[in-house]
Amino acid sequence: MTSPIPSKPHQTAIALDFLVIGGSSAGLSAAYALRRVGHRVLVLEQNEDFFDRRCGGYRIPPNMSKVFYHWGLEERVRKLCLKSNMTFFNRFESGEDLGGHVWVDELMRETGGDFLFARLADIRKFLYQLGHEAGAKYRANAKVVSVDVTGKSVTLQSGEVLTADVIIGADGRDGLCRKLLLECQSAPKSTYTGMTMYNALVPGDRVRGDPGLSKFLGSAAQYVWFGNGSAGMLFEAGNDGDMGIHLYVRDEKDRGTNWNCTVEEMLRYASDAEPQQVIQKFARLAVNVSRVPVYDESDLEDWVHDDGPMVLIGDAAHPMPPGSIQGTCMAIEDSAVFAKLFGHLISVDQVPSFLYAFPDLRQERTKSIRVNEMGNIYFMAMPDDAGAIQRDAHFKARRDKNLSPLEDESGDASGLWESIKETWCYDAEDEADDWWVGWGMLRLRSQRTELDFGMEIQVSTSVQLSRDRPS
Ligand SMILES: Cc1cc2nc3c(=O)[nH]c(=O)nc-3n(C[C@H](O)[C@H](O)[C@H](O)COP(=O)(O)OP(=O)(O)OC[C@H]3O[C@@H](n4cnc5c(N)ncnc54)[C@H](O)[C@@H]3O)c2cc1C
Repeated sequence: MTSPIPSKPHQTAIALDFLVIGGSSAGLSAAYALRRVGHRVLVLEQNEDFFDRRCGGYRIPPNMSKVFYHWGLEERVRKLCLKSNMTFFNRFESGEDLGGHVWVDELMRETGGDFLFARLADIRKFLYQLGHEAGAKYRANAKVVSVDVTGKSVTLQSGEVLTADVIIGADGRDGLCRKLLLECQSAPKSTYTGMTMYNALVPGDRVRGDPGLSKFLGSAAQYVWFGNGSAGMLFEAGNDGDMGIHLYVRDEKDRGTNWNCTVEEMLRYASDAEPQQVIQKFARLAVNVSRVPVYDESDLEDWVHDDGPMVLIGDAAHPMPPGSIQGTCMAIEDSAVFAKLFGHLISVDQVPSFLYAFPDLRQERTKSIRVNEMGNIYFMAMPDDAGAIQRDAHFKARRDKNLSPLEDESGDASGLWESIKETWCYDAEDEADDWWVGWGMLRLRSQRTELDFGMEIQVSTSVQLSRDRPS
């Protein structure tokens, strides 16, 4: 059996108790990452288990697979996922071919990771298994109904009260932890964009059973349809032939989130899609159909609560647009950075500076990624105006020269590829290491110097947050 903690990172000198509210991508990855560095973790999930089966497919960008690889999990990740080979672009209404892009190994190597496809449920299960093997504790059917930040405790629906040194809010966009932070900050309200996303999974046995559809299997390709106010996406979700469907549609009315939608509802929005009816044929066989409105999200000023050691991660801190390739990835990057910082703990006095360093390291990154991801949705689904004509002309010109849309006229990497690469080359853990070397270690040295000169430094046994943000 392989070791549950394959590549051992810097270990904390004192083990803290972390309570994590929410057992999805953010909470599960935080649990494993914190166990890797020697902390104790209990994850609380309101659902009956940690394997939410309502998920669809997930496209794992290289900046996420790279985190897994750093954690020594490359072999296990490769068994779970399918390496993406190429992307084909088409028009949504006419089905016209707009060319394609092959993910060349040589270029991908620069990112340090791989572009992979999987079922999101498998990723969550994998994270749960890792944390379980590493000694994290989990409680399902454990809905948190209130948080006492000053008292460092949470109350469950059952009335039970649990305490910890640090509380992590990983309960998603609509969870109570984000609301708690919103109450004491002046963030503007999120607004509905007029777009809604449908997400679904087509089981592999249904795809294999249909000769017209089974030809889409085996190429590890992603198919993208650009439409007039709508967009579609289809990809192989892992190794079993399941296909993930994302459909973005215009809907003036915000109908809210529904995790149990009907196929008919989704199909209504695909009625004007391409004559080849690829999207409709797959959609008719789909399961796990969900509807999620796309919001222009507001940014929280801070992810750390003023009154005590509570911090947000994942969608609770920075909701990503639904279906976003970087959604789950940002949660994993958060966990990697957070745990890297807390692996350097030698005194509880460092806790505030580590908590505040976390948003300092992550806020700019997650904000720019969210803006980018929203831009990608608009790019795929822009109305048929001058912008769409220019986009299609660019794609067709490259197609006619047998070039990728990510290449310029001479076949070199374009600005578009450079911008994708910048996102994919980012190394979350390097950022945390840089902070430690540049700031964390210096702070520690100055505290030690104070001690050497006989000055008093408070080494408390419990974690308290000062309202003054450490510099
Ligand atoms: C049902 C579901 C299906 C999804 N399917 C896809 C998909 O197919 N593809 C994709 O790209 N993205 C999908 N997403 C979105 C994706 O999971 C998130 O955008 C991303 O992974 C960030 O994860 P997160 O852990 O921050 O938040 P979330 O995934 O939203 O998880 C929050 C977790 O906290 C739990 N929780 C909330 N309140 C409480 C409470 N009071 N007490 C205890 N637990 C609580 C929730 O039950 C949930 O498990 C899905 C999300 C959900 C909720």
